Amino acid sequence: MQDREPPLFSFGIIADVQYADIDDGSNFKKTRKRYYRNSLKLLQTAIDAWNVEKVKPSFILQLGDIIDGFNKTHNASQSALDTVLRECSRGPPMHHVWGNHEFYNFSRDALLSSALNSKCHSGQLLDNHDFYAYHFSPAPKFRFVLIDSYDMGILGHGESSDKYQLSLKYMKNHNSNEDLNRPPAFAGPEFNGGFSQDQLQWLDEVLTKADKMQERVTIATHLPVHPLATEPQALAWNYPELLSLLQAHRSVVCYMAGHDHDGGYHQDPATGVHHLTLEGVIETPPDSQAYGTVYVYEDRMVVKGNGRMRDRELMYPEGLAG
Ligand code: ZN
Repeated sequence: MQDREPPLFSFGIIADVQYADIDDGSNFKKTRKRYYRNSLKLLQTAIDAWNVEKVKPSFILQLGDIIDGFNKTHNASQSALDTVLRECSRGPPMHHVWGNHEFYNFSRDALLSSALNSKCHSGQLLDNHDFYAYHFSPAPKFRFVLIDSYDMGILGHGESSDKYQLSLKYMKNHNSNEDLNRPPAFAGPEFNGGFSQDQLQWLDEVLTKADKMQERVTIATHLPVHPLATEPQALAWNYPELLSLLQAHRSVVCYMAGHDHDGGYHQDPATGVHHLTLEGVIETPPDSQAYGTVYVYEDRMVVKGNGRMRDRELMYPEGLAG
């Protein structure tokens, strides 16, 4: 897909690299191959390609699970992280989302003090809250909001913490057989998580300001929230709450997530929001790829995908800012 005018700016997208210096394996159901070493090569190739684009992407969104949980069992968490970050540092500034595999390897405190905390790119270091979320504006009228899919959840929180105990209770309540009115995956498995009321309120405030400023907002996180953009097991625990929050704000144009390695896409007819779930690098064969560059225009974003990631034209919902 080639466009006539130059874009206002562009950015790169990539998800679920899950690098580990171990032999190839498979997913839990043994239905898909995982290329643990080669995923680093695919990341390298993606960065090489971004570096030689005619207009270099302003930044990269890395949507989580950059190293695999197996590193923990091999005592290689730090070395694997150093390896991938060395590659990332060769390219445009990278915004990192945290996925379940980050929490298999590191505590929340360790992540906060690591290079995977990319909040420094946002200029909001004083905006303190106990979830990992921030926003930035790379160009007038455009804003990107990174949110924390594991703010609630049993990963990354100490067992004695309030959030861990609350999350345990939440899982028990929502997995109960008496809860017949909810879809079976409502609470989701324990390798997923969700959004606390504090974070939902924070996001509501950020989006309210963006509505007023007539900005176009893209949300980036690890877990998808639209049931038609992913498989049920990959959804964030309280995805209906996030979906109804999006419905209340006209500024949101796109919601990007990873976690479901098959990828997915759905435009929510209620909001016009594009829900894009990125294909995972880890389950991508060595002769293919799974990354993209997004070219941003006044009226749309154009995704130029590579390998398993397909091209898409994402028109902004009509009648909104502008
Ligand atoms: Zn994941």
